[in-house]
Amino acid sequence: LVPRAILHVDMDAFYAAIEQRDRPELRGKPVIVGADPRGGQGRGVVSTASYEARRFGVGSAMPISEAYRRCPDGIYVPVDMKKYAEVSDQVMEVLGRFTDLVEPISIDEAFLDVTGSTRMHGPPETLARSLKDAIRDRTSLTASVGVATSKLVAKIASDLRKPDGLVIVPPGTEAAFLAPLPVRRLWGVGPKTEERLLALGVHTIGDIVTQQARLQKKLGDGIDHLAGLARGEDERGVIAHGDEAKSMGQEHTYDEDTTDMKRLRRTLLSLCDAVARRLRQHGVRSRTVTLKYRTEGFETFTRAETLPRSTDSGDAMFAVAWRLFEGIHRGRKVRLLGIYASGLAAGDQLDMFPDETRPADRVRDAVTEKFGRAALTRASLLPGARKRGPRG
Ligand SMILES: [Mg+2]
Repeated sequence: LVPRAILHVDMDAFYAAIEQRDRPELRGKPVIVGADPRGGQGRGVVSTASYEARRFGVGSAMPISEAYRRCPDGIYVPVDMKKYAEVSDQVMEVLGRFTDLVEPISIDEAFLDVTGSTRMHGPPETLARSLKDAIRDRTSLTASVGVATSKLVAKIASDLRKPDGLVIVPPGTEAAFLAPLPVRRLWGVGPKTEERLLALGVHTIGDIVTQQARLQKKLGDGIDHLAGLARGEDERGVIAHGDEAKSMGQEHTYDEDTTDMKRLRRTLLSLCDAVARRLRQHGVRSRTVTLKYRTEGFETFTRAETLPRSTDSGDAMFAVAWRLFEGIHRGRKVRLLGIYASGLAAGDQLDMFPDETRPADRVRDAVTEKFGRAALTRASLLPGARKRGPRG
């Protein structure tokens, strides 16, 4: 199974970089975007400081009076949200060229799941370079990018070589990558937790892993979650903005949690068929298939794959869904399965690569319409049906 490829894209000193781009006289100078300093008497905070201003110790969220004390010769520029929002739209539009799975987390930051995009855009590293180039072409601004198998690691990676950075953490090297970094880099380690860890002699993320047993005695079970993060374990999926509204999906909750592979397979197949039927009813096709998977312990995983071409075929969706399922399952007791189709577009566009499976789907629709849903069920959905290979 192909490991996930998740990018964290973070624009460098976004507001200040835009001002420096638009006003060449500000380039190379300490630029502080934020409240009016009023000669050191101003109220409010710094929104963004240029890298030149950061050398004076000025940073985001610092009181503007403090910034003025540290950098009285800086160039103070008021916030122009309308302009930054327009540039943000341009950046997000560029990101959308590489995958449907873009999750903006602020005006200048987003996660992308590009696992399903490598056929079109090359391996993650090549894709990340093209993406940085595309942002620069469109906006004349630089972004820093982290590439990893999880959101957690990608976000930490994007921050390490700013500005204009590209840090790639190959699959399997997550724990080794995190180990030497200070504990405060880890999500969930705020100033208080950091203080407690430092007091216990825990300085690096790797220390949390190697001293997990000792720390559990001191700090309780909360440390297990932190140790998981420290090993780079983070199953959260990239949720495309507005996906709930722009997706069609269906879920099934078992009366009794199950490990029965035949049942799980049948459920996935019928969920894919049901969602595909709704796509066809609405005359749309989907580019992204998302699997939701919940265990008896309410642990929830989401995995998504963007297809090289859009589809409204239950078989095509099932092929993806089954692959995603196999990547997660590992014999757990399953409580719920769900299938979502997103990245929807009108289905009547010229189809360069017609799906071979579509006629079969059409026949199913026609029969279902005429005789109702019970009339036609796939052989593989019937109880006791024999397995016929991955496509059922
Ligand atoms: Mg940024």
